[in-house]
Amino acid sequence: MKQYISLLMILAIFACKDSKKESAAAMVQIDTSSKPEIKLYTFDGGTVMVNQLQLFSQDSSYSGQSKEFADAFYVIEHPKGILMWDAGLPEGLVGMPEPYTSPDGAFTVSRKDSVMNQLKQIGMTAADIDFLSLSHTHFDHIGHAKEFKDATWLVQETEFDWVTSKEMQETNADIYNAIKDLSKIKKIKGDYDVFGDGTVVFKYAPGHTPGHQVLYLELAEYGPLLLAGDLYHFSENREFRRIPIFNYDVAQTHASMDMFEAFADEKNAKVFLQHSKEDFEKLPKAPNYLK
Ligand SMILES: [Zn+2]
Repeated sequence: MKQYISLLMILAIFACKDSKKESAAAMVQIDTSSKPEIKLYTFDGGTVMVNQLQLFSQDSSYSGQSKEFADAFYVIEHPKGILMWDAGLPEGLVGMPEPYTSPDGAFTVSRKDSVMNQLKQIGMTAADIDFLSLSHTHFDHIGHAKEFKDATWLVQETEFDWVTSKEMQETNADIYNAIKDLSKIKKIKGDYDVFGDGTVVFKYAPGHTPGHQVLYLELAEYGPLLLAGDLYHFSENREFRRIPIFNYDVAQTHASMDMFEAFADEKNAKVFLQHSKEDFEKLPKAPNYLK
């Protein structure tokens, strides 16, 4: 073991002399060797058919196009506790004979299964979830949040203030109702290391909403990865830095994109877009999850 650590140190020193990037890669190797085993399970929280893809750019890039989005939620198992990240589409959609189309025609949504049924696949119940956190409080991320009243809701203070504001209660009652019964609340400000060892970290990435955040994970056998929330909905938006017309703050979103890309490079992290069907397929599922 000592020999292994010495070798890594030599590698790290050597890499430092060589270039910044190699140094970062060596440091990641040292970090993961001493960290606890984290498991990730990815679940299907529904499907969003975007009938008006032009909503996802400030310009006319997507005029006349449509696109199907995945809508995932995730369970992260750490030796010190279990975190649920995001909460899918509303569970009222489960069992509906037809997908639901919003009155403006922009979205057609469906959801196949409830969170409780899905948790059974990994032998869990609601009582096993210690922490709930949402990338942000839009309708496609808060669906089954109210099932986790005994979990501690880890929420950015800026997001909490926004979603509980009088204006939101009046104009977006469905969203407010989805979170209003969560009573165990821990408000956080900025980046937050959930278990204090750097393996499960929220990175503050506001702009899509006032308190939007992304999730950084270090999985023992899968390496560092980032779940991007709705910073980017699909790969073209990442490539061309396009921003939906309904984002809360465009300048803030660009700043969050800069932060995110620099952090992904620093950690050599694989990036997964939560609404990308291709990315959804790549992540570990129950019961064949990666340890
Ligand atoms: Zn979304």
